Amino acid sequence: MRDIHLAAGRCAGALALCLGAFAPAAAAQTSGGGGVFVAQPKVAKVSCVSRCASKKRAQGGSTLKIRGTGLASAEEVVFHGSYGTRDDLTTPVRAVSDTVLRARVPGGAVTGPVSVSTSQGATSRPSAPVAILPPPPPTPNAVLSPVPGPRDDGAPQIETGTSRTKAYVGARRAVTFSYRVSGTLPSALTVELVSGTDGSVVKSWTPEPPAAGEVKSVTWSGRIGRSTAAPGRYSFRLTAATASGAVARSAQAGDLERDAFDLYDHVFPVRGRHDYGGAGARFGSGRAGHSHQGHDVFAKCGTRMVAARGGRVKFEQYHAAAGHYIVVDGAGTDVDYAYMHLSEPSPFQPGDRVFTGQQIGAVGDSGNAQGCHLHFELWSGPGWYDGGDPFDPLPALQAWDSWS
Ligand SMILES: [Zn+2]
Repeated sequence: MRDIHLAAGRCAGALALCLGAFAPAAAAQTSGGGGVFVAQPKVAKVSCVSRCASKKRAQGGSTLKIRGTGLASAEEVVFHGSYGTRDDLTTPVRAVSDTVLRARVPGGAVTGPVSVSTSQGATSRPSAPVAILPPPPPTPNAVLSPVPGPRDDGAPQIETGTSRTKAYVGARRAVTFSYRVSGTLPSALTVELVSGTDGSVVKSWTPEPPAAGEVKSVTWSGRIGRSTAAPGRYSFRLTAATASGAVARSAQAGDLERDAFDLYDHVFPVRGRHDYGGAGARFGSGRAGHSHQGHDVFAKCGTRMVAARGGRVKFEQYHAAAGHYIVVDGAGTDVDYAYMHLSEPSPFQPGDRVFTGQQIGAVGDSGNAQGCHLHFELWSGPGWYDGGDPFDPLPALQAWDSWS
């Protein structure tokens, strides 16, 4: 029952974020009335059986074996991830039997419970959290190098490079894809950004063809139109065509390794050695007259502290209990991020923009703090003491900690 308590506890304070995950189960139970029997799938045990990161832990591309009951008509598995519905990913499945199911872990899935949905619309309760490690990092290719992709006779020769293998939504430093063409010069160029999760092209650029030997680049900041791209692996692909139709590509269509990088949506905010404290550090633990609304991350006073997610600063104040604190309205999210007990006032003021990973202060013990620590809160929309609710930030912190 531990799984259910964990999931319910996480959602008590974040109804808006959790509704998405739990509404389908409730709907299936009520709409199945009138004598129609809808088999309710149940997940008992999840284990990783192939392409696992280790014996107990999965990663993108691993196959999970899900044991339970009522799985015969399972249609999809939802990976609920670590925080709210934003990082949920769904993968289609076919049951082996009523009690066994295999599911491939989608690229970009993060640690969290899974649930099973059937073709009749019934959804299981979320399982205990399944540990999913980030996939092995892409091969760095920061310096221009000749490409492995296909090339027609008479097509340009291409070299490409990608500035980083790890990128963050809302960070100051974008990902830069550079290229150089030689030989026959192209009359048309296309740069495509390909999703490693499903191979789809999520964005494309058609820059002017460069002069011979000239290094050109495109940069991407993690946005697609006005919205934020989903976390996961992406790769750049360059196509160069001459006027006579000879085409060269930087990678094969199925090659998601060349010029690849992983996009993450948060950075772990404490940039140094840290620990998650004891029972008293947890969300919901007892405090005089109230319950603890965040999680305490312990680290040496002075440890650099960065914005887990960039956005707009909402508050920067001093409070007798919270000490120096700052609240950031996360860009592209409805979540507010509160950081307390800073060693000194943050240099940022309300209205300022901060980037993901940008330093906003240092761990301290200002206010009512026992030992140097970051008291960290996550609030659902509309926000911090503004109609939102605090929810347990520990699963999110642990996920961010695993990759940053
Ligand atoms: Zn605290």
